[in-house]
Amino acid sequence: MSIRKHALKIRCLGLALFIIVSVASSQQKNSLSDQIEKYQNIAQRLLEQGLRELPSYSILEKITSVGHRLTGSPGAAAAVELTRQIMMEMGLKNVHLEPTTVPHWVRGPEEEALMISSVLGDHALSTAAIGGSVATHEDGLSAQVIEVKDFSELERLKESAAGKIIFFNVKMEPGTLNTFSAYGKAAAYRVRGAVEAAKRGAAFALVRSPTTANDDFPHTGMMSYEPGITKIPAACISTQGADLLSQSLKLDPDLKVFIRFHCQNLPPVRSYNVIGDLPGYEKPEEIILLGGHLDSWDLSPGAHDDGAGCTHALSALYLIKALDLRPKRTIRAVMFMNEEFGGSGGRDYAASEKRADEKHILAVESDRGGFLPLGIGINADDATLDRMQKWMPVFRSIQIHWIRKGGGGVDIAPLGKQGTVLGGLLPDSQRYFDVHHSGRDTLDTIHPRELELGTIALSLLAYIVSEEGLGPHMK
Ligand SMILES: [Zn+2]
Repeated sequence: MSIRKHALKIRCLGLALFIIVSVASSQQKNSLSDQIEKYQNIAQRLLEQGLRELPSYSILEKITSVGHRLTGSPGAAAAVELTRQIMMEMGLKNVHLEPTTVPHWVRGPEEEALMISSVLGDHALSTAAIGGSVATHEDGLSAQVIEVKDFSELERLKESAAGKIIFFNVKMEPGTLNTFSAYGKAAAYRVRGAVEAAKRGAAFALVRSPTTANDDFPHTGMMSYEPGITKIPAACISTQGADLLSQSLKLDPDLKVFIRFHCQNLPPVRSYNVIGDLPGYEKPEEIILLGGHLDSWDLSPGAHDDGAGCTHALSALYLIKALDLRPKRTIRAVMFMNEEFGGSGGRDYAASEKRADEKHILAVESDRGGFLPLGIGINADDATLDRMQKWMPVFRSIQIHWIRKGGGGVDIAPLGKQGTVLGGLLPDSQRYFDVHHSGRDTLDTIHPRELELGTIALSLLAYIVSEEGLGPHMK
């Protein structure tokens, strides 16, 4: 073959290759843009149906109507039955309860904290026992108070802490944008304050409520004791109460605080996770789980924590069903029991023999309140996340600004250990800790449209994953 002919052949081959690659890539582009158009259409329908009907708010009204849902309480039992009924009425399949054993702590009828000062007079402090705390003596206790700003300051007190009330006056760091990270640091004093104070011989741990709000509502939450360390009682006081006590101690270091609590740790009781499915028509054994936790703290009906999350999961299935969308894979709602008091519901769910023939490809928890959703966190490898980024035009159309690495939750963490990709809905968190675990976590702090936008985001995510799969090779 002459050089000219050879060159011509190479040029022809090059051109053919170029045409093949261009056609393939334009086909790919077409198919991706077709898919985006298809899901954008579905997103728009989910959005309109959700915002017109606001099913999430109606469901949340029902859930909060039973009152608080502390593990082991009548409210928690009522919420199990109520959400089971809601799932049945929605026409979900495989609706059932799965047992889990939960702590049974009750607050008792009275809680009292009184600052007593010969210089400043007496002032009541708004207080709430921390979940799991032992009671004070029936007649209460009265002791001098030592304020500390961290555990190392407590360490330096040595014997002077003996018999005193240790006052952990640690603010949730206001300069931190991510309120969950500021909360994590401040809440350590609520969780471990009693143990650390008891190691120094103190009589009581009094903790500034971990919240950025400046108000008179005490917050509660979980605490822990350690074997071999004396169990001393522990309580939170409101941020305003903490400021008053701190200022008063400067004026009268000898002031005392009188405290009385009647809380009780009763034997554990049996409770349940509540489960319902929209079965997949092609791969029913592959599951996309949407979950929240049904239990709450006992100072309010837990509208944000986590009535909102349960509602997001339930209503997401409702919306998909309302649009007559039949998913390829199973989309499941799980109302987990006992996130707040130890996480037994999530562990028992993952360990159940019922999971043997199931494969959870994605589990998403909503446990960050019912405020305006901003984004979605997915705890997946980079390739999976990259693949999900392709759907961002669809998510932007419902005002979800990003899908990033992150997400998860206490209830779904055990599934994560088994290899399930975890995710979380991430609403704006600036107001969350104003209400979290306090008497302010009530239905009136929920905006029906903001709540619904969270539901719409989860319904869209679950539906797209049910159709497209998650990993780079799934379809
Ligand atoms: Zn929660």
